[in-house]
This record gives sequence, C-alpha cells and structure tokens, in this order.
Amino acid sequence: MEQQIPYKIYLDETELPNAWYNLRADMPVKPAPLLNPGTLQPLTAQELDGIFCEALVAQELNETDAYIPIPAEIRDFYKMYRPSPLVRAYCLEKQLGTPAKIYYKFEGNNTSGSHKLNSAIAQAYYAKEQGLKGVTTETGAGQWGTALSMACSYFGLDCKVFMVKVSYEQKPFRREVMRTYGASVVPSPSDTTEVGRKILAEHPGTGGSLGCAISEAVEVATVNPGYRYVLGSVLNQVLLHQSVIGLETKAALDKYGVKPDMIIGCAGGGSNLGGLIAPFMGEKLRGEADYRIIAVEPASCPSFTRGRFAYDFCDTGMICPLAKMYTLGSGFIPSPNHAGGLRFHGMSTTLSQLYHDGYMEAVSVEQTKVFEAAEQFARVEGILPAPESAHAIRVAIDEAVKCKETGEAKTIVFGLTGTGYFDMVAYQKFHEGAMSDYIPTDEELQASFDRLPRVN
Ligand SMILES: *Cc1c(COP(=O)(O)O)cnc(C)c1O
Repeated sequence: MEQQIPYKIYLDETELPNAWYNLRADMPVKPAPLLNPGTLQPLTAQELDGIFCEALVAQELNETDAYIPIPAEIRDFYKMYRPSPLVRAYCLEKQLGTPAKIYYKFEGNNTSGSHKLNSAIAQAYYAKEQGLKGVTTETGAGQWGTALSMACSYFGLDCKVFMVKVSYEQKPFRREVMRTYGASVVPSPSDTTEVGRKILAEHPGTGGSLGCAISEAVEVATVNPGYRYVLGSVLNQVLLHQSVIGLETKAALDKYGVKPDMIIGCAGGGSNLGGLIAPFMGEKLRGEADYRIIAVEPASCPSFTRGRFAYDFCDTGMICPLAKMYTLGSGFIPSPNHAGGLRFHGMSTTLSQLYHDGYMEAVSVEQTKVFEAAEQFARVEGILPAPESAHAIRVAIDEAVKCKETGEAKTIVFGLTGTGYFDMVAYQKFHEGAMSDYIPTDEELQASFDRLPRVN
C-alpha cells in the first residue's frame, strides 16, 4: 500500500476543481464584519464597490454559499500551471530517519513563483468583466505584484504596483519581472500620493511597510475613475480563490486513501494557509473528521502567537476598513533585519476567528532556524524554497523529528508556497552568518497595542 504512492501525485486537467470552496459557509461563528472606519458600522456592498470590483465584493461578503463556480476563463488559465503536484517527500523522510509520512503541495511552479497567481488571475478576470481600465495594489517581497502583473497582462488591464521601498531596492529583479509583464512599479512610501507624502513627512528615510503601500494603492484606486484596488492576501475573497490548493490536495490524497494527521502552512496574511486547509477545516467544522492544523509565523512578526484579537486597520495610513483579527497593531513594522517575509501586522479574519475558537494552532519560529530548514530541504528535495514557505518546512521537520522520538508514523501535509530565487540576498546573509533573529519585546508590542483603534 505504502509503496504504491508515487513521488508526485498529479491530478489531470479534468480533475481541476469546478468550484472554489467558501469555508465561511460552514463556520458556526462567522468572522466579524469589516467596519467603516468613519462610522464604525459594518461596511455595505455599496461602500466596498468604490474600492473593490463588484463581483469580488459579493464574494467578500458571501457567508452562505459553500461552493462558488470557477468561471471557465479562469479555469483555462489555471490549466497552464495547475493542478499543481502533491509531492511525497521520500528523500526528506529518509534523511530525517522518521517514520512520519511527509507530503507537500508545491505552488511555485509558475513564473510568479508562488500561489499568489491563483487569486491574481481571478481578481483580474472580474476587473476585466466589470469593464475597468486597471487595478492598483501593493507588494512586499514582490510575489503578489509579479502574479498580478502576469494576470493583468493576460486580460489586457493596466496594473499599478506600490512596492515596499526596501524590497524595491533589494529586489530589482522582481521589479523587472513586473515591468516585463507591463506593470508600473513605484517604491512606497512615495511622493505620488497624499498618504505617501504624509508618511514620508512623519518617518523620513523609512524603508516602508506593506501597510504604507496599501494606503497608497487604495488612494490611487479611489481617485482614478476606472480603477479598483486589489489585494493578494488577508481578504475572504483571496482565501476563497486559494481554496483550489486545498481542494486539489484533498483530491490527490483521497485517490490513495491517505488521511493527514496534521496540515501545516506558513501564515503572512493567511491566504495560502486558508486555501490549503479549507476542505479539511470544513470537515472538521462539520464534525466529519479531525486534523491538527498549524499556522507558522515569524518570531519577528508574531500576529497569532503574540497579537491581540481586536478590530484594527489593515494599513498604516488608517484609511482602510477595520477588520477584527489577530494583529500587532497597524503601526507595527517588523525589524529591518527580518528577511523571511510574512511581514503583515494582521491576519485573515476567517483564520483569526478559527484560531480564536480553538480550531487551529499557531507557532512562531526564528528566521535562522527557518533558513536552516530551507537549506536542508533544498539539498534533499531539490526545490529551492521561498523563505516564507520554509516556515512551514521548519515545523514539518520538527514534527517529523518528534515522530521519530515517539515512533508514531503520522502523516504530515505542508504547503510549499513558492520558490526562493529572488531571495538570494537573504540566503546570502544566512550563509555568511550575518542573519540575526529579532524578537520584539513585550514593551514594543504594548506600545503598538496602545494605538489600536478604540472600537474594541
Ligand atoms: C505571499 C506569500 C506567502 C504569505 O502570504 P499568505 O497570504 O499568508 O499565504 C507565503 N509564501 C509565499 C511564497 C508568498 O509569496
């Protein structure tokens, strides 16, 4: 039985899911609604329509339909790089000498190098369908901007990307990939927006943050007719699109009668994790099966493990809606020596509610340990992982080593969200022993919590 499982479980094109799975439909306690920052009332579809595409607003607010059909045009694009392989990590298992069975779902097999393309193509499709001219967005490490540039060029849409300044400077190649796909890329904070000029005046010389870049992108989308803002993580609609990861994973495992004991994913804003776990969490919520579900985050940006479950802004400029989530405070900017990605201060409201209600666990890991795991994985499994993905690798290895100690042959599934070719500066730091771990102090976090909006 064991021997029959191939190194790679591929589904064929016809097995690509026809519908995304909307986890919220099965949640007994729904995530708290987004609030209008002015009135503190739940945001209506009309208010959201000014920022986001209409179809995406409907998806954002949909808590009742468990399945939402994937339009044929999106499925056609998916077919160019999906279904993605589910790989049995035989070589890693052997090296660890563990009885555990390790699988990873690999999402890095497209030019953008990550799972973000799954949502980018959906968002671009709905923008096109609405007859818009273009979209604006922010990007941190650059994966989302790259994915969105690809998606926009496919549908002939203009794409304006605000890229966190430190990344813009450290990752010129990312920027050029985006420009290859026709996007315009501006380092954030910039003097091209009102909010950017304000942030620059308050924090001269800042390297920027995702929160700043979001504020700028939203401003540009709301002042330019024919433009809307799109976001690559955190939102319900993004988790919905990413459910394709989990649906494929479950279909592949079901083919071989494999039931995972634990499912592990890295968590920045929560989209890959939310997508990977969606159908498994659905079973758990409906009482049909039980799984350990583990979110992994950086110790330098520990939203789940040390954050507050509270209403907060999604951006630094405090112009975005308020979301009830695990947050470090919208003013929190991870230490500049943090190179491992996953730098957003908040977390998906859906995952926050599930974590709050005890359906999932979270752990934080230090970046030197993350890069150790990345290197170990690259050497035996061949794939050079993104630092973000390596957070999940770290905990998968740790859990497999525990199995070795207890002699339990647990089945571990983790999300390998992307490749790390554009992160070689971080790898270089690691190899030169120049990488350090910065863990924020309780005082630093408290100072940030003190500035949470008084809605809670
Ligand atoms: C963006 C990104 C993440 C984190 O984002 P989530 O929304 O938490 O999934 C993880 N891995 C890679 C490769 C990414 O590009």
